[in-house]
Amino acid sequence: MIRVHTPQFSGNEKKYLAQCIDEGWISSEGPFVKRLEQAFAAHHHVAHGIAVTNGSAALDIALKALELKAGDEVILPTFTIISCLLAVLRCGATPVLVDSDPFTWNMSVEEVLSKITGKTRAIMLVHLYGLPVDMQRVVDRARATNIAIIEDCAQLMGQCYHSSPVGSFGTVATFSLYANKNVTSGEGGMIVCDNTVIAERCRSLRNLCFQASRRFVHEEIGWNARLSNLQAAVALAQYEKLGETLEAKRRVAALYNNLLADIPAIQLPLPRADYSENLYWIYGIVINDDVSFDAAEAIQRLSAHKIEARPFFWCMHEQPLARKLGLFHELSFPHAEKLARRGLYIPSGVGLLNDQIHEVSKALHAIF
Ligand SMILES: *Cc1c(COP(=O)(O)O)cnc(C)c1O
Repeated sequence: MIRVHTPQFSGNEKKYLAQCIDEGWISSEGPFVKRLEQAFAAHHHVAHGIAVTNGSAALDIALKALELKAGDEVILPTFTIISCLLAVLRCGATPVLVDSDPFTWNMSVEEVLSKITGKTRAIMLVHLYGLPVDMQRVVDRARATNIAIIEDCAQLMGQCYHSSPVGSFGTVATFSLYANKNVTSGEGGMIVCDNTVIAERCRSLRNLCFQASRRFVHEEIGWNARLSNLQAAVALAQYEKLGETLEAKRRVAALYNNLLADIPAIQLPLPRADYSENLYWIYGIVINDDVSFDAAEAIQRLSAHKIEARPFFWCMHEQPLARKLGLFHELSFPHAEKLARRGLYIPSGVGLLNDQIHEVSKALHAIF
């Protein structure tokens, strides 16, 4: 089976892990946590990095730190991971969904701008698959009207928008260190921000809201979402190799771009937009409407060729959970619905061999 992703540990991962064990620093108190936080903060030209247990916790904590109230609106894409919606719901705010752009597969910026109301308190910009959201107008509008921006950079650590890193535009930005992300420790997450008050709130919320003066006296509902030194050690070693990781992703994608260009039945990722080069976190394809089968069927057929593939996200407005909560009644978002039904991603790991990429291409030619 050619897998969608296999992690690569070719740097200092073992050395740093051994250091944790030799020195006895394994909890979140260890030195690699701070080093990782500083590396993420410096990378994004901001003052603070707050390491957490995963990217979903990063979103929960970042949103909670913004002190939203019931009735406050948060704009987010319908085509995203459930974590985004959960973070909005958990802090008691009202989610306002937007459709996707059919070419970049990111949230539609036009629709974001048109859904801003007097109640909008935050906008979640989720950068998906390879290109960032074309966010300049949204960021400008938010600054002028005191709306917070949360950049979800889980998939695009290392990407730039124009010439600045994705994650340096928002009020806060969140990252995932899950096994298939650009910098990984198996499980893990990070929040970066420049605002010291928000950063301190995130630190406190991550650590059960213990208080410095009276440790076991609490004033707020927090989480234990601390990242361990062991995880930070692996993630730091991964961060040191980020440049190589991204180069490898682009190598894989360049070959796919060549090999798949002659299949008219599928839409390939946009190689670039005028604000960024695609980073190809994963290599996605979208099956055209005139093909009689959908992504689920294509994944089955690829599996018969011993090739693993995964579906795109399922829309937030179509989640059974949303039905149960009485949310998003009768809303429809045609571009996002098409991506959910007709989008899939194929093996995209940085360790893929050219032979394997050719095999995937052969299978896709056979199927389409
Ligand atoms: C992976 C991911 C997350 C969640 O990260 P976890 O570490 O798996 O909790 C959030 N947002 C996006 C866009 C992701 O791809």
